[in-house]
Amino acid sequence: MRILVTGGAGFIGSHLCKRFIEQGNKVICIDNFITGSKKNIEELLHSLNFRLIERDISIPLYIEEDLDWVFHFASLASPKHYLNYPIKTLKSGLLGTYNCLGLAKEKKAKFFLASTSEVYGDPLIHPQAEEYWGNVSPIGPRSCYDESKRAAEALTYAYMRQHNLDIRVARIFNSYGPNMQADDGRVVSNFIVQALKGKDLTVYGEGNQTRSFCYINDLIEGILKMMEVDYKLPLNLGSSSEFKIIEVANLVLKSTNSNSRIKFLPLPEDDPKRRKPDISKAKEILNWQPGVSLEEGLKKTIEFFEASN
Ligand code: UDP
Repeated sequence: MRILVTGGAGFIGSHLCKRFIEQGNKVICIDNFITGSKKNIEELLHSLNFRLIERDISIPLYIEEDLDWVFHFASLASPKHYLNYPIKTLKSGLLGTYNCLGLAKEKKAKFFLASTSEVYGDPLIHPQAEEYWGNVSPIGPRSCYDESKRAAEALTYAYMRQHNLDIRVARIFNSYGPNMQADDGRVVSNFIVQALKGKDLTVYGEGNQTRSFCYINDLIEGILKMMEVDYKLPLNLGSSSEFKIIEVANLVLKSTNSNSRIKFLPLPEDDPKRRKPDISKAKEILNWQPGVSLEEGLKKTIEFFEASN
């Protein structure tokens, strides 16, 4: 197959590109390296089946080759980045999705949207099932990400309805693993890097807010399975093991044998208090569920950060 992956040098995108290359597909990777990294795709650059186009997906593009799939993963997905670059975030969610949909339509390719648990905002129901419409501030600091991903979903379904485009929409919950950026501000990467450097672990608020963390390999399996089934409604992909942030901090301290201490800092505005996916649909439709425990996944992620220092 010929597969185009936007954000192909990012955390999830780079793992996807690697899998597609290993399977013998031809991959076109698009990335503007605003948060992606060349290091993530270094080993792929030698493959004749891999082509890198350094470019911002919010600018329309023309591709000569036929395409079977278009995966739109380009996004500033970490709160730290989307708070710093709100307009770029909106552009990759809105214009980037629009450009990718146009490309998929032109090539008669299937389209895969990397959506997010943030479409549920600070959820009022728990756990979050796909039917939940969410609790999102349209003007808050996170709105550039949340609302552009919600609009990206709306655009995707408009193309499905109007142009009969074959689509998949994954709502990806917190995920972690090798190829995360050390400084992307995410809780797992922050805690690991801080623990390895002997710095204080920065817990926001009292650390009672929860997240459910999915290891990257599990997530990639879920995404690949979505390609194999003909199911066009959104699917939650994530782990249903819920942890308080303070528990994550303690687990990282234990797993790194670190002497670092915990420092409590103010909770960011609109930070969701609880987040855990209802993954019963993915279990039933994809016969998928995450298998890697947080302890195991952290161990592998710690090894990655140790090796990259
Ligand atoms: N968080 C934290 N310390 C950090 C980074 C994040 O306590 O150094 C908290 C953050 O407030 C949030 C959770 O960890 O409640 C997850 O944050 P992250 O940025 O990883 O992703 P989010 O789920 O908010 O998109």
